[in-house]
Amino acid sequence: MDFFNKLGDVITETGKDVSQKVSDLTGIARLNMDVRKREDFVKKQYTEIGKQYYELHKEDEEPFFEEIKLIRETLQEIDELKIQIADLKGKKKCPACGTVNEGDAVYCTKCGAKCESIFQEEDSEEQVEDQKEEEIIIEEIKEDIK
Ligand SMILES: [Zn+2]
Repeated sequence: MDFFNKLGDVITETGKDVSQKVSDLTGIARLNMDVRKREDFVKKQYTEIGKQYYELHKEDEEPFFEEIKLIRETLQEIDELKIQIADLKGKKKCPACGTVNEGDAVYCTKCGAKCESIFQEEDSEEQVEDQKEEEIIIEEIKEDIK
């Protein structure tokens, strides 16, 4: 009787262990998710501090952090890229003041200067060049595969 009692206890214990382990696992997964959520939150705060710091020091000649210069340069690149995109969409950049006008604009909406599509032709040439380069690269890759 004693033996069966003990056996019963062992079986119940084992059963408990398994379900305990399962709930521990889901508990761990949930906790891991909570950790990740908070890590993401902290990252956002870091980014926010970084933005605020950048705004305060973006005009510094010799910024304390090299990253300030890198961000400055990259933002400028983004502006230039956006102008290129606008131009490719058929818009015109004013040769006098740099304002981007609609593609059918004859005169600049800001300064009134005559708007000629100054880099439309350059760009389409560049595009053709890019396409050629791309084709060459694709050919090279094909060769490598063989
Ligand atoms: Zn203008």
